[in-house]
Amino acid sequence: MKHHRFFQENLLAWYHPEDRPLPWKGIQNPYHIWLSEIILQQTRVEQGLAYYLRFVETYPSIQDLAAAPDDEVMKLWEGLGYYSRARNLLAAARYVAHELGGVFPTSYEGIRLLKGVGPYTAAAIASFAYNLPHAVVDGNVFRVLARFFGISTPQDTTEGKKQFTELAETLLDATQAGRYNQAIMDFGATVCLPRNPQCKTCPLQSGCVALKEQRIGELPVKSKKIVKTERFFHYLVFNFEGQVLIQKREEKDIWQELYQFPLLENESLEQSWELLQAALLENNGLTLPSHTLRSGSKVFQQLLTHQVVNARFWEIDLEDLPASIPANWLWIKRGALNKYAFPKVIDRYLGDRALLLL
Ligand code: SF4
Repeated sequence: MKHHRFFQENLLAWYHPEDRPLPWKGIQNPYHIWLSEIILQQTRVEQGLAYYLRFVETYPSIQDLAAAPDDEVMKLWEGLGYYSRARNLLAAARYVAHELGGVFPTSYEGIRLLKGVGPYTAAAIASFAYNLPHAVVDGNVFRVLARFFGISTPQDTTEGKKQFTELAETLLDATQAGRYNQAIMDFGATVCLPRNPQCKTCPLQSGCVALKEQRIGELPVKSKKIVKTERFFHYLVFNFEGQVLIQKREEKDIWQELYQFPLLENESLEQSWELLQAALLENNGLTLPSHTLRSGSKVFQQLLTHQVVNARFWEIDLEDLPASIPANWLWIKRGALNKYAFPKVIDRYLGDRALLLL
């Protein structure tokens, strides 16, 4: 217990919120706190900040967000990745606006019912907005606790999660839950860093087991390694009299609800144009009218948590409109491309081709 008290007291004594001022710190507005927490779930603070400000400005209240068109929200989210967050954000805002009379839930359990809010996010919102005694437990907290207490139970096992969560709850100062949670998160983000932890200046160093036993490099322990799947996308950029074809990704897969050029996915990027045309006929029932193949682009790559997407873009000038196109394909003016939200790999291609496509 002495060890626990040392941790709690020194962590709180170290914490000065003004050292790392951010617009969602020290506020009580649950809507704004929730927005910031969803944005920061898989995004660094430096990148998330601009998005947070944009969302708060565009949708000052949860009712404003609930009333926004889906495509507009996806466009505002563009570039942040993990788009299920944006879809859940909208679903939760509409749930609060329509089912809860526009009042943000005030209990941990109520917050947990919002789509996209897991135990960590619920604890963060409940403690920051209402000072409710729920400890945050995320990657930062796993790392800090594993090192300071010298715990080698893998954090991604049921046993590990239980052990770390129980310890985190014991360490929480229930009288100032919000401040304590913010302190441990800031500590993990600025002192006990994944690589190069600042042990020399660390306020907890005299009690740190990993430092004493020289085990910093091996803690925290993870049991599983992420295996990445490689995918190969051929995007077909059809041009006809200043218009291009796009489609919405509707299937349950990465990038759901984002737009893209018509896509053929197969086993490699080394495919001839003849084979791709045969695939277009087989998959989409589409026979191309007279056309000129302008070029096949260089390979663009996007790394996701579990996948690597390799993409090649084929630019095709059509001399006529195809007899019919699949129902979810859409002709738009090239100049309107910037109105739609695309995955990053397509944005990068468009950035490269800006002069040619506009
Ligand atoms: S001494 Fe180093 S490893 Fe231990 S808590 Fe501090 S920063 Fe982390």
